[in-house]
Amino acid sequence: MMGKIVAKFGGSSLSDATQFKKVKGIIEKDERRCYVVPSAPGRRFSDDEKVTDLLYRTFRAKRDGEDYHLPFRLIRQRFMEIASDLMLSIDIKAHLDRIEAAVEAGASEDFCASRGEYLNGLLLADYLGYTFVDPKDLIFFFNDGSFDSERTHQVMAKRLEQVPRAVIPGFYGSIGDGEIHTFSRGGSDVTGSIVARAAYAELYENWTDVNGFLMADPHIVPNARPIRHITYRELRELSYMGATVLHEDSVFPVHRAGIPTNIRNTNDPDNEGTMIMHGAVEEHNPYVITGIAGRLGFSVLSVEKAMMNSEIGFGRKVLQAVEENGLSFEHMPTGIDTMCVVLPTAELEPVKKQVVKRIMELTAPDALTIHDHMGIIATVGRGMVHNPGTAARLFSALSREKVNVRMIDQGSSELSILVGVDGSEFQRAIHAIYDEFVKE
Ligand code: ASP
Repeated sequence: MMGKIVAKFGGSSLSDATQFKKVKGIIEKDERRCYVVPSAPGRRFSDDEKVTDLLYRTFRAKRDGEDYHLPFRLIRQRFMEIASDLMLSIDIKAHLDRIEAAVEAGASEDFCASRGEYLNGLLLADYLGYTFVDPKDLIFFFNDGSFDSERTHQVMAKRLEQVPRAVIPGFYGSIGDGEIHTFSRGGSDVTGSIVARAAYAELYENWTDVNGFLMADPHIVPNARPIRHITYRELRELSYMGATVLHEDSVFPVHRAGIPTNIRNTNDPDNEGTMIMHGAVEEHNPYVITGIAGRLGFSVLSVEKAMMNSEIGFGRKVLQAVEENGLSFEHMPTGIDTMCVVLPTAELEPVKKQVVKRIMELTAPDALTIHDHMGIIATVGRGMVHNPGTAARLFSALSREKVNVRMIDQGSSELSILVGVDGSEFQRAIHAIYDEFVKE
């Protein structure tokens, strides 16, 4: 039996008729591309509006008693234009009329938001000659809004057996008695991953507008090299970088099923992009590291107390104070007499006083300090395990550049080394690491 590929196309890949044509060319090039998951039309130029944003705008205008016809007219234009440019026979106007009537009748926010994918799916199915399959009957959420993975998998796998070629819109499913419910923004990536698992696909292709991942942020390191192969675990460690290209939750369904993901560029289809693999990557990686990713805006809260290491429950109490204030922490490096908790500054700020007070009450520390304006940099690579001295190289590179390392954490996976640096030294630190490991 022929293997199957699930191809997800992002908003910029389907923003107008020209992009639709490219997508059709890609689909027709490989007959294994049998399930296609579209996003809603994205931006055509830099200050264009995404259809999904216009839909949210329509919902809010109606809710607030403002004129919602204005944004809806723009949505209407976008779909009518694609349909007419491609000379499609589908009566998209009738669908738009029905949606506008639903908005008038007070449709929910998620219903409104999901219509971009729904309409784009109808257009694409018509254009490709594929069956349109509505994910409202295949993707389910529990009443608390979390994704019901097992029910979805069973129902979807059965349904896909009956349709050899289909377009399944991204971003939404149903909740309760069949009300439309969406994933978080960018969620069509998640739909694609779920479809790939249910189709027992050999590959999940995620078509976007970049040639995959780069070894470092090109805004900081111009001409950063592309990453050809990466493992799912490495990508998780690099999540500060991945999130902008791929929705975080899209990793799990395919990873579990052992299906690789290939990030590809609709505007440069000959480029092989980045392959995200399940397990060991055979391909030779010329570098010890796979990539570097960082993010600014962290605070490090350090609690110091002599003999902390032998005080039972010390760590729990610190974390209790964090938890009671509704914070989730990012990292938790510890020393013999100190424990640090790294938190996003924006989340800590509103409850800072309470957290400090509570830690004081619970642990009576010798000192408690908070460093704001921190950047966290993750240097990730499956090659680090077999290469002793990687950490030494990294720290000498930073010290040569006179970067002051405020925090160090080596993940227990031995896949990554995290360093915390002052925000003002963030870019310099990334450069130093990149130059040490990558630049010839
Ligand atoms: N259209 C949705 C959004 O803009 C989902 C997606 O594109 O993945 O967030």
